[in-house]
Amino acid sequence: MDSLFYVKTKISDECEINTSVSCDNVYFRCGECGAEEKIDLGDWGDFITDNGIDAFGCQIFCDECSKKRQNKKAVD
Ligand SMILES: [Zn+2]
Repeated sequence: MDSLFYVKTKISDECEINTSVSCDNVYFRCGECGAEEKIDLGDWGDFITDNGIDAFGCQIFCDECSKKRQNKKAVD
């Protein structure tokens, strides 16, 4: 593995998957439409630091849904 961090997932008693976490293999599902999007952990870390949010209790939206939500907010 070439990364400081990795994800360990136990599939069964005999099977476990270990895979490195890098800048280009982390994804999220949009909280609105469920689309899979890639996320840059460096940017995400900066966003958490700047905004002081709960990184596990929040939702992330894809670009398209983010634009829709911002437009809706502007109208409300
Ligand atoms: Zn979306």
